[in-house]
Amino acid sequence: MSLVERDGRVVAGIEKLRFFPLTVVRGEGSFIVAEDGRRLLDVSASWGAAGLGYGHPALVAAVTEAVAGMASASVLSSINEPAVALAEELLAAVPGEGDRKVWLGHSGSDANETAVRAIEAATGRHRFVSFVGAYHGGTAGSMAVSGHTATRSPGHPGLVLLPYPDPYRPEFPNPGAGVLGRLDELLAGEVAPGDVAALFLEPIQSDGGMIVPPDGFLRGLEERCRRHGILLVCDEVKVGLGRTGFLHAFQAEGIAPDVVTFGKGLGGGLPLSAVVGPAPVLDVAPAFAIQTTAGNPVSASAGRAVLRTILEEDLPASAAQAGAALSAGLLDMASGHALVGDVRGRGLAVGVELVADRGTKEPAAAEAAKVVYRAFELGAVLFYVGLRSNVLELTPPLTLSSSEVDLAVSIIDRAIADVEAGVVPDEAVAAFAGW
Ligand SMILES: *Cc1c(COP(=O)(O)O)cnc(C)c1O
Repeated sequence: MSLVERDGRVVAGIEKLRFFPLTVVRGEGSFIVAEDGRRLLDVSASWGAAGLGYGHPALVAAVTEAVAGMASASVLSSINEPAVALAEELLAAVPGEGDRKVWLGHSGSDANETAVRAIEAATGRHRFVSFVGAYHGGTAGSMAVSGHTATRSPGHPGLVLLPYPDPYRPEFPNPGAGVLGRLDELLAGEVAPGDVAALFLEPIQSDGGMIVPPDGFLRGLEERCRRHGILLVCDEVKVGLGRTGFLHAFQAEGIAPDVVTFGKGLGGGLPLSAVVGPAPVLDVAPAFAIQTTAGNPVSASAGRAVLRTILEEDLPASAAQAGAALSAGLLDMASGHALVGDVRGRGLAVGVELVADRGTKEPAAAEAAKVVYRAFELGAVLFYVGLRSNVLELTPPLTLSSSEVDLAVSIIDRAIADVEAGVVPDEAVAAFAGW
């Protein structure tokens, strides 16, 4: 029986988001080796988790050493050096003032859920602001402050959703100022600022469609949060830690959030997340957000190796450089394809929005599913995102080389051409739901 068949029999559908039959047996740098021996360029890096690619020597060495001598499973009831050191190093790496602490977890979801719960308890305020299209996780508490159609959750009872400013599909003549104005109106009317605990922000809205907000938007939000005593939470889970060309995505506008959440790339593919925030919030009560294996020395050592590598090898600069080449290559190939409506991004967080018609911008969701499927056949792994399921998402390893940039562009170019030529039948993608 093939691995695909065995998987279909036993692995729960509720933990799947599949776009094509990808079975992986090994990873090497920016490449995945599939069960049939094919080498595939991983333009997703497992949704950004494999920020250093696969098998990076620093990560392999740190994890191997940590697991061989592991003396405790977590920070729950004992203290271990890798977890303490990771917390120290995160505090040093995240700009901020005052007495701050670090909470360690396993996933972006648990980090955001913990932030919601601790902030609500510490502030005594029960309202939150986030954005239509926001994805903060797949657990009840993180879904509750999300605004993505994929999150089947009633939402936090005190949640207010604002539109996210989308320069390609503007809701207002000036999208950034328009959304800030909407927030001002809400806070002057139906939402009492003193009831709002926090605003949750993705500095680039990734699962919502890799939307880069217009300049000044992040600063405008920060200014309003300060004015009203609302905590600003930046979710850096997917686009943080070097990906945008800055160590933190929020640094594109030099803002300083009160709380920052990390996941995905922090563990380099291992389960690890963190919340960095004010001590009065993250110390709100003992045994308030506990998990038996959180802060375990293996994941913490992975996080330390990732952070050290990003800083020592200046991977934000590499991401900026590779990202500029990738965006330029994609823009260049886009001119030859009517299907491409927009190419956007910052560093190695890049989106390609597909449309059936450039004038009406009618979303080309069926084509997006076929393009990622065809790219897989041609040798590259990438997925699509967005509330309209029509944005190709590129979040490759930060270590992507210039020849790998060229390979990514040429495969995507060819995949789009093939889909335009009708090479991929509907039946090929019918079994894959995507999102
Ligand atoms: C993926 C993601 C999460 C959730 O992280 P998990 O590791 O899947 O729990 C939260 N926020 C953002 C922005 C993400 O992209």
